Amino acid sequence: MRVLGGPGRNRTTDTRIFNPLLYQLSYQAKEQNYSRPERNCKELWKLFIPPGRGVGAGRGAAMPARSILPGYKGYNGRMNSPSSPSMRRFIQSDICIVGNGAIAKTAALGFAQAGQSVTLLCPSTAPAPSAAAASAPAELGWDVRVFALNHTAFHLLSALKVWGALDAARVAPVDAMLVNGDGAQAGALGFDAYGAHTGTLAWIVEDRNLNQALDAALRFAQNVTLVQGRATGLVRDADSATVHLDDGAAIQAALVVGADGAQSWVRGQCDIGMDYRSYGQSAVVSNFHCERPHHGAAQQWFTGAEGVVALLPLPGNMVSLVWSAPEALAATLRAESATQLAARLAPFAAAKLGQLTPLQPELVRDFPLRLMRPHSMVAPRVALVGDAAHVVHPLAGHGMNLGFADVEQLVRTIVEREAQRGIGDQRVLARYARARKEDVLLMQLATDGLARLFGTDLEPLRVVRNFGLNLLDKLPMLKRRLISHALGKQG
Ligand SMILES: Cc1cc2nc3c(=O)[nH]c(=O)nc-3n(C[C@H](O)[C@H](O)[C@H](O)COP(=O)(O)OP(=O)(O)OC[C@H]3O[C@@H](n4cnc5c(N)ncnc54)[C@H](O)[C@@H]3O)c2cc1C
Repeated sequence: MRVLGGPGRNRTTDTRIFNPLLYQLSYQAKEQNYSRPERNCKELWKLFIPPGRGVGAGRGAAMPARSILPGYKGYNGRMNSPSSPSMRRFIQSDICIVGNGAIAKTAALGFAQAGQSVTLLCPSTAPAPSAAAASAPAELGWDVRVFALNHTAFHLLSALKVWGALDAARVAPVDAMLVNGDGAQAGALGFDAYGAHTGTLAWIVEDRNLNQALDAALRFAQNVTLVQGRATGLVRDADSATVHLDDGAAIQAALVVGADGAQSWVRGQCDIGMDYRSYGQSAVVSNFHCERPHHGAAQQWFTGAEGVVALLPLPGNMVSLVWSAPEALAATLRAESATQLAARLAPFAAAKLGQLTPLQPELVRDFPLRLMRPHSMVAPRVALVGDAAHVVHPLAGHGMNLGFADVEQLVRTIVEREAQRGIGDQRVLARYARARKEDVLLMQLATDGLARLFGTDLEPLRVVRNFGLNLLDKLPMLKRRLISHALGKQG
């Protein structure tokens, strides 16, 4: 086990610098031995979820020009320097989070800001969230792994002082979304920020940029102990859960949070059943320079037999491709050069974006697509967040956003629990699962339904889906509700 940090380190640069109110609240909570956790939650959650969420979240407010974190040197796949040369064999904290992705790190920061002590367990090999991205210095190129982050993500990351630490020059606001149907009678559906009464529909953020900002925040977070190791066992009893590591060390906590992705080890320890279905597709991703400006528009084409092609805006005249292609086609796309890939995109993109040129010809990656629906998001003393709790088709670009909403809800539920209930109390966890059920189910149904509806070349279905797109485009009320949900805004 490698302990990479611990409570009390960086005392001269602690969270007071970033958020005095949160620091004071968490300090008070600790002083009172968490005896009345709900006492401060209203104050605290005002900061996490500002009133009128989404409003005022325009790009100006969102994007300070430079990183605010002093001493930040860049992402290196490791997050902290050891606080002490001695190895700890037994760690106790309120919460143990297993995982090394953006959702795990966000959860660690969220709980730490709420006054809980957190141990974040990353794999001993500590593979970077995106190996290709991490190994490429920022100036060498653009990460092919990008996410469209919505307003829920924006508010949570802002409250955690992570959004301001993103490299703003590498974040692209999305001002419009255009969805194109297929065939001779192709339907079309368009959204824009003005029509949705918001400054920006979403933000395209590179995986590397996001993780750099999260890692920088983690370096300064109080209450967070970073541990590298391989979990081998999870033992739970009435009072606590203990994660055992392969070197004999152990982490004991009131709650274990599984943020360890689609193949979650934590979920596997909990006897949680799961529905699994492969889409028989892979998402092929790469970045391109475009001849004409994209004007902040994200575009998507449902092509029937060739899958779903999406081009997301990057800063300047650049776009990021996510092509959810049937396996056989995906294999061909992988085997071809990025220049050939650009040529295949011409029928979709040429009219608006002109010629596409690969940004980094060697960087084409792909990800298998599947639907994963674990039967529960909780088990005794365990909560799942992010892809550990649900994996959806990326055609709506919402898997990560769902994960951020999980984190927000889990921290909120724990902060707001009654005084007599512990952090891992089964009723508290059940509340979390209930609160997330509708949002997750809606997204699963919507993405799965669209993937099926648009994944066939049957003519009657083609007519129906294109008619549906056109109809929806002409129903402003329904359209607004839909976009509002997608943005992560209420009402
Ligand atoms: C092509 C594509 C495009 C997408 N686009 C979008 C988008 O635009 N917007 C959006 O919101 N979502 C998008 N998604 C979904 C998004 O990528 C995922 O939902 C998100 O990455 C899940 O994050 P996570 O942290 O839960 O899981 P992961 O990113 O999978 O991270 C899990 C982490 O846990 C670590 N881990 C695994 N096992 C262990 C263990 N035993 N112990 C410790 N650590 C462990 C892993 O190393 C990994 O770092 C897209 C997905 C795909 C495939």
